Amino acid sequence: MAEETMQFKTELEQLLHLITHSLYSHREVFLRELISNAADAIDKVRFEGLNNEAILEGDSDWKISIKADEAAKTLTISDNGIGMSRDQIIENLGTIAHSGTKQFLARAKETGLENNPELIGQFGVGFYSSFMVADDVTVVSKAHGEPAVKWESKGVGEFTLSEADKEKRGTEITLHLKDDAEEYLDEWTIRSTVKKFSDFLEHPVVLITKEKDEETEIEEEKEEQINSQKAIWLRPKSEITDEEYGEFYKHISHDTNHPAETIHYNAEGAIEFKALLFIPEHKPFDMMWNNDPKAHLNLYVQRVFIGNDFDNLLPGYLRFVKGVVDSSDLPLNVSREILQENPMLDKIRKNLTTRILKTLANMKKTDFDEFKIFHENFSAILKEGLQTDWENREKIAELLLFESTAKAAGEKTCFDDYVENMAEGQEEILYLAGENRASIENSPYLEKFKADGKEVLLMIDPIDDFVIPQLFEFKGKKLKAVNKGDLEEDKEKLKDEVKEFEGYIGFAKKLLGSVKEVKLTTRLKDSAAVLVGDEYSMSPHIEEMMRRMGQEVPEREAVLELNPEHPVVKKVQAMFTADEKDPKVETLTRLLHDQAVIASGAKISDPAGFAARLNEMLV
Ligand code: ADP
Repeated sequence: MAEETMQFKTELEQLLHLITHSLYSHREVFLRELISNAADAIDKVRFEGLNNEAILEGDSDWKISIKADEAAKTLTISDNGIGMSRDQIIENLGTIAHSGTKQFLARAKETGLENNPELIGQFGVGFYSSFMVADDVTVVSKAHGEPAVKWESKGVGEFTLSEADKEKRGTEITLHLKDDAEEYLDEWTIRSTVKKFSDFLEHPVVLITKEKDEETEIEEEKEEQINSQKAIWLRPKSEITDEEYGEFYKHISHDTNHPAETIHYNAEGAIEFKALLFIPEHKPFDMMWNNDPKAHLNLYVQRVFIGNDFDNLLPGYLRFVKGVVDSSDLPLNVSREILQENPMLDKIRKNLTTRILKTLANMKKTDFDEFKIFHENFSAILKEGLQTDWENREKIAELLLFESTAKAAGEKTCFDDYVENMAEGQEEILYLAGENRASIENSPYLEKFKADGKEVLLMIDPIDDFVIPQLFEFKGKKLKAVNKGDLEEDKEKLKDEVKEFEGYIGFAKKLLGSVKEVKLTTRLKDSAAVLVGDEYSMSPHIEEMMRRMGQEVPEREAVLELNPEHPVVKKVQAMFTADEKDPKVETLTRLLHDQAVIASGAKISDPAGFAARLNEMLV
């Protein structure tokens, strides 16, 4: 066969131009693409060999080799896969045999290839990514029973075909690297790129290096496997040791500890996939500074790594989970966007979510100590699910732990236990959110409930005050913040006092312009006054926190509630009745308000005035 020059098809021409010009920062993916093509070719011949042993030609020692030649500036990737005949090579590497190419072009123009390097692999145009790093690509290939053929191109306009010498079945792709891509001759770069993209490929990837024999001074080729080749999630559970799981977990999570839980299963039925998931015990290093709200599971389709940033593979509130999902039901040759919209992904997510929540529930039941550690580290993330995963909010709520007035500091209870211990006739789950236990456990808001023997959950995680109110109820029991909203019984019980205090209350309201209302309450036992927000307002300590973070917080309109049984309140009311103009009435009223502000966890806006008032009274 003489050398023959052929033109690329037009669309391919455009494609090559696009790839070589817009993917500079992601060009390392060329290696993944070539390795994954080689692995596919091996899978194909292995499969065909099942029915036709002759095709194997006695060579089934599957291997993908990489060899760098520094002098020639070439990188060669070879495999003993199925190989290509002359016709196949023209079809596969010279035309647009793939229906995907047109879509790819449309898509790439639409979204900008720079932002979507994954498009390349998923549209079946991976081979051409070699032109990102090479100015000349040679493919020598031999299929069973066919003569070897050589394809060569500079990636513009045309390619040539000629005969080649190659005895064994398979494909050898040699890239002549561009000047600015010589880093891919470097052993370390090759190793780390393979590790990153192809580590768990089922077939061995070997690096061929030259080594000089010290004595004979003869250079010899040395082969070294550089991928770990352990698709551990594909192996049966019973054959995998804890050490192996641990090692794999460490590899993908960069956590140095053992995982708290390992979840390994095959889903079968409507959708088939394999999942190997880990729940860490402690926050891995990257999570401490990485605020990415997305979950990052590694998605493999037929053992080929597709990506780890699919929005709908796992909900963000489970982002502490690390692991791998491998599905052979998902199509390999589609764009990232199309894959993202694939309904299978939703099914996988639902299945994974259920499984993870179940595992956590079980951990809480059987290993509470371990669960507590997990909770301490990850509950703030988990709680986001109360807002984002309507379907599972009750299951998430079941997993939450809280301090409580019925428990010593540091001890935890949960909603289920709370409900079980509810006092007779108690209808609501009572809670108080605050900065820390010490600051709220003696809060005036708790006085009445303590006296009535009712337990109050103490929520001291800053996120609680944002998410817990939105839960509204747990298993039919309404949630009620004890520092917000009206007390139902007040109206009934305080009829007489309300009349008696009418005049003074009116005075106080006028004096304290910032409060929404002044009224009497049965909420208090030992304290004189308290500020109460409306049912859906932010807690004062959260407002305080937001102010500290430089956020604008609107002036709060709270209700000042007074305890008509308290001696100070009684006294000031008596003074007011005796002489409305008595200046001490004003000072005392302001002091009642001041102490209510302090007790609520907020800051007094006029501390100097407060000190002056206090001193005036002390004197
Ligand atoms: P994809 O692999 O996604 O189909 P590529 O552009 O990477 O797209 O490759 C085009 C086709 O060329 C492949 O489908 C395959 O048929 C063929 N091919 C590529 N690399 C090899 C190889 N190493 N051995 C055999 N065939 C190959």
